[in-house]
Amino acid sequence: MLDTETIHRRHAVSSAVGAQGLEALVVSALVNVRYLSGFTGSNGALVLEPDREPVLFTDPRYQLQAAQETSCRVRVSKGPLVEAVSKHIVRRRLRRIGFENTRISFEAHRALDKDLPMGVTLSPVGTVIEQLRMVKSATEIELIRKSMLVASTAFKRAIRRARPGVTEAELAAEIDHQMRRLGAQKPAFETIVASGPRSALPHASPTQLALKPNQLLLIDMGASRAGYASDMTRTLFLGSPPAKVQRVYRAVLQAQLAAIASVREGAAAGDVDLAARRRLRAEGLDRAFMHSTGHGLGLEIHESPRLGRRDKTMLRAGMVVTVEPGVYLEGFGGIRIEDTVAVTTHGCEILTPDSKELTAL
Ligand code: ZN
Ligand code: ZN
Repeated sequence: MLDTETIHRRHAVSSAVGAQGLEALVVSALVNVRYLSGFTGSNGALVLEPDREPVLFTDPRYQLQAAQETSCRVRVSKGPLVEAVSKHIVRRRLRRIGFENTRISFEAHRALDKDLPMGVTLSPVGTVIEQLRMVKSATEIELIRKSMLVASTAFKRAIRRARPGVTEAELAAEIDHQMRRLGAQKPAFETIVASGPRSALPHASPTQLALKPNQLLLIDMGASRAGYASDMTRTLFLGSPPAKVQRVYRAVLQAQLAAIASVREGAAAGDVDLAARRRLRAEGLDRAFMHSTGHGLGLEIHESPRLGRRDKTMLRAGMVVTVEPGVYLEGFGGIRIEDTVAVTTHGCEILTPDSKELTAL
């Protein structure tokens, strides 16, 4: 696939790398290899040089797939890819090489460095590719929207089976099954189904515990479809919700709506977090909200920016982020409401179509 979007991405990376005085960039993170080449295999590295066809290194298992998926020159190597990459660098007489210091393993860096002759320098480029990936194209937003739709439809189908006696693990399996049936390659992350007091654990793994009447039920899920992630959380109640559940739910929903209302191009990521936190503080619940308000997502489930207190990233149209405040009280349980939203010039578009009214099952 040699679409204009891929070319545009490579240009953007090449010029950022060129601006740092580098002659080439070794891309070792598979997700970034995919972003810049289209290659989806599990072993690959890319060498990007400005104004040259990029070279994709992989092993014989992926020879055919690489040729089908990318427009790069493909080099198949039976040995470690770092060796093939360093040979290529030597052959091309490249001297100033950038590498992804936040992604490469210590061992791989050492192997790469060892094979390079004197005078060749390896320079860290930080998160230059991740910074570019923050702003999504219209095509990417469409892919995230489709991924979200798969997750949302699977959620609606699966919760029909949520009743006392069904275990958290069974419900999580049903969600994953439905997502795959609807076209997801896999869940974007381990589906969270947490019932009763266990919902107070923000990242609970589903257990063999059966759902019981008059309990909270927190479901956090997302699909990975065509490489793109989606992410949503809904908190339901099995039975008719008591006053405290209604009060806390309303506070979380108000916080979520306030945060969403503050999302727009030019707003600081930290201000979205603040909007949610301020609402919960007014209800005396801010101390029960111990994670950040959201995160970017795309090819990965967690990307920049982070909608956290200290993140000063300026939101830009095309960023896709989650907005997911929650309140977790030991013994009572947890309530979280999460949507995936796309930042626009004047606000945001909510990609999660599901109702946020407190649902009683
Ligand atoms: Zn989530
Ligand atoms: Zn999330």
